[in-house]
Amino acid sequence: YLSRLRLTEPQLNSFIHVSDSVLKSAQEIDDKIAKGGGEALGPLAGVMVGVKDNICTADMPSTGGSRILENYRPPFDATAVKRLKEKGGIVVGKTNLDEFGMGSTTEGSGFQVTANPWDLGRVPGGSSGGSASAVSARQCVVSLGSDTGGSVRQPASFCGVVGLKPTYGRVSRFGLMAYASSLDVIGCLGTSVADVGIFLNAISGHDKFDATSSKQEVPDFESLFASINLLESKPLSGLKVGLIRETLDDGVDSGVKSAINAAVLHMQELGCIVNEVSLPSFSLGLPAYYILASSESSSNLSRYDGVRYGKQTVSDELNALYAGSRASGFGPEVKMRILMGTYALSAGYYDAYYKRAQQVRTLIRESFKTALDTNDILISPAAPSVAYKMGEKKNDPLSMYAGDIMTVNVNLAGLPALVVPCGFVEGGSSGLPVGLQMIGAAFHEEKLLKIGHLFE
Ligand code: GLN
Repeated sequence: YLSRLRLTEPQLNSFIHVSDSVLKSAQEIDDKIAKGGGEALGPLAGVMVGVKDNICTADMPSTGGSRILENYRPPFDATAVKRLKEKGGIVVGKTNLDEFGMGSTTEGSGFQVTANPWDLGRVPGGSSGGSASAVSARQCVVSLGSDTGGSVRQPASFCGVVGLKPTYGRVSRFGLMAYASSLDVIGCLGTSVADVGIFLNAISGHDKFDATSSKQEVPDFESLFASINLLESKPLSGLKVGLIRETLDDGVDSGVKSAINAAVLHMQELGCIVNEVSLPSFSLGLPAYYILASSESSSNLSRYDGVRYGKQTVSDELNALYAGSRASGFGPEVKMRILMGTYALSAGYYDAYYKRAQQVRTLIRESFKTALDTNDILISPAAPSVAYKMGEKKNDPLSMYAGDIMTVNVNLAGLPALVVPCGFVEGGSSGLPVGLQMIGAAFHEEKLLKIGHLFE
């Protein structure tokens, strides 16, 4: 993996920082094996893991993709990182992202632009574009991403890999740089559903450092895969699948629609009963998400003031120091989000925007609940298009935001969702991948993983 990383990284730029102790960590595991003695190796022993750079690591810089945190080294590991290391995983480096997770292309990084391994002229998606590109190019086995409105699932779709957004609260957010705290989750990317499930197992569970992490028991996803019989015909017999009607509207590429239709046939072959379901409030998710995410971010990002956190611009006067540090440290997209959020939260506009968006959020949560009361899972495309060309949406934020339509509702409802590659559309030199999104009820990751494993 390391030689492949060195070979491909100059074209891809998936990593902001590559660890210089990968071989040493691998050697330690080898030594443990050679020594024998029956000491158990963790389920991730020797597994090369990429970590999105908005997730804190004590032994490497953690920038959040922002110049304001250039050279920042946190004094601790995020809980997810600590857990994966305890299970034997080796962090190979920190992957590129849109600044603080705000974007859908990874072009919004303060450091570099990451390429899509399927076509170097196209974006890998975002904001976890580095994590998706690294797994897709086999620079590492699995990677951590974060998903506030689709940032694990849309890049997984664009790069042809598996991506899982867990239920809100399943994985501790301790050490994840907050973007929109009520929506943020740490998620996993890998080349197979089994890899992603085993990885999720290693990082999940309650954490006393994150009050919103859940005390729900974490099922043993590893033994789940061992128990699945891949030779059975119709292994998903009778499983009810709801295809969300609103996700196949006019704005969706015809190639994506064909791939989803083929995926539906494949699910039927596996025994599923697939029916269309309507989520009438689906299209309201996008505006509600952008109001809520921007509002929460405007508050969360106030800590980067050059004093508590962030590179300091020297000034004799305190307010000028804050303003100077923020003006020079943040990129344009982040500034725009802070302005939008501050506006939506301000006294005269709060009721019209923030409060209204919260009401919409409740509607969306309820409509998912109703649909999932009568269906085991819901399905949709992971994105309305395949990976697009670099620069295509760079100066058109609204069209970039519109591309998040398939994913943001799931965060508003706090549900788990799995993206699995389901076909190709013509483009690039060997086709461009399409991802199928499977959405489950809260804490039903096990069901998604089982279906995904049989589907892929
Ligand atoms: N593209 C969305 C945004 O810019 C989602 C980002 C994310 O999930 N971190 O907010």
